[in-house]
Amino acid sequence: MMNRRNFNKLLASSFALSLTACNSITSMTSTLPKNKKRVVIVGGGFGGATAAKYLKKFSPETEVILIEQNQNYYTCPFGNTVIAGLNDIKYIKHDYKTLESKYKVQVIHKKVAKVEAKTHTVILESGEVIPYHKAIVSPGIDFKYEKGYVEDSENYSPHAYKAGAQTILLKEQLEAMKDGGTYVMVAPKNPFRCPPGPYERISLVAHYLKTNKPNSKIVILDQKNKFSKQGLFQEGWEKLYGDMIDWRSSEFGGAVISVDPIKKEIITEDEVVKADVLNYIPNQKAGKLAFDSGLTKGDWCPVYKKTFESKLVKDVHVIGDAAIATKMPKSGFSANSQAKIAVLQIARILKKQAIINPPKLANTCYSLLAPNYGISVAAVYEAKEDIFDTVPGSGGLSPMGASPSFRATEAEYAVGWYKNQMADIFS
Ligand SMILES: Cc1cc2nc3c(=O)[nH]c(=O)nc-3n(C[C@H](O)[C@H](O)[C@H](O)COP(=O)(O)OP(=O)(O)OC[C@H]3O[C@@H](n4cnc5c(N)ncnc54)[C@H](O)[C@@H]3O)c2cc1C
Repeated sequence: MMNRRNFNKLLASSFALSLTACNSITSMTSTLPKNKKRVVIVGGGFGGATAAKYLKKFSPETEVILIEQNQNYYTCPFGNTVIAGLNDIKYIKHDYKTLESKYKVQVIHKKVAKVEAKTHTVILESGEVIPYHKAIVSPGIDFKYEKGYVEDSENYSPHAYKAGAQTILLKEQLEAMKDGGTYVMVAPKNPFRCPPGPYERISLVAHYLKTNKPNSKIVILDQKNKFSKQGLFQEGWEKLYGDMIDWRSSEFGGAVISVDPIKKEIITEDEVVKADVLNYIPNQKAGKLAFDSGLTKGDWCPVYKKTFESKLVKDVHVIGDAAIATKMPKSGFSANSQAKIAVLQIARILKKQAIINPPKLANTCYSLLAPNYGISVAAVYEAKEDIFDTVPGSGGLSPMGASPSFRATEAEYAVGWYKNQMADIFS
């Protein structure tokens, strides 16, 4: 099993590897190709990696460069199963080898400083400059540091809302917690990455505690008054975990006034809540790169819904969690679906063809409440001028009061969904 120290060593060695393999920035990359179009994609997560593969599939003649700062990608989906000891960290680890070898995507492992609109270039932190005809940006999220939770706080009270070292740290803290201890989660305000994510995590932590430390308690201090799939979660919590989980809405005791992430103490209006493990998930905004590239208005990036082109910067398309894509949730499946539409439209624009109008997109979010208990929400969306409208009659929620075999089938579908998505993106 990999612990956090080994994980950090591994990251350091892959970073060294990426330095020696910084092969990819050549004189060819630093000038635009003469006889073909170049699309540069920044961020190799759900959005960016899907975009790279599918752009090559839709338009093999286009030169596709994917720039991702890390050698490996650890998914947040199924990260909660790692925290609860149901899967090893390797289960959520993926790499870019197939994108390079099979799809001929040029992958560069470096950090991007910004995308510069006026010169149509991507500028790397190391100083190299890569020109583009079109750019796609999928940088994910960053956190709002407030109320005493600063950047360094994640080393004491992990958010585990970006997967990898944080996933392992939270898992280690959970394993070290005494039987009879209190696991406290602070759940963020809307909008944030994966609306059911915190509540799936609570469910699987409860599963771990019920099995290993049954005298323990879980408190959720929520910064809002309701949450995704709430009825289904609360029905499952009661059935599976009795009164182990104490959810407090923002209005009734959840609102955080300040936090001491080292002492693991949270001050609310009513009391000081003391945690043995504090899983503090801060409020969120678009990834830093989006701010540094002038792509944001407020906390997120406004885009034209039919193409995902930025409303602020021409020829730059923003997809995934960073984009404003109401009513689509910020999910991996949404990012995957948005990536396919964005590159299809880009391929058509570059060939001077009419765009698909209106494009349709899809999302399904499965959540596990226990290894054999799954629930889901799904919808198909149609891109309108300024919103993604739900197609009437599409998708829906799992029913309340379903049988154990129905829940077990949904849990199997959740695993199937994950395997299919990973195959769709990385192989
Ligand atoms: C606990 C949890 C559970 C979840 N479960 C599900 C689920 O079951 N189903 C689902 O659909 N979604 C789920 N999600 C949501 C999903 O993880 C996100 O919606 C998805 O990762 C968004 O994709 P993205 O491409 O926008 O960002 P990311 O996947 O975060 O990718 C961004 C990439 O950009 C790179 N990057 C950022 N800045 C730079 C830079 N300056 N230079 C180079 N690279 C950069 C990062 O390293 C990263 O690899 C879950 C999330 C959490 C936290």
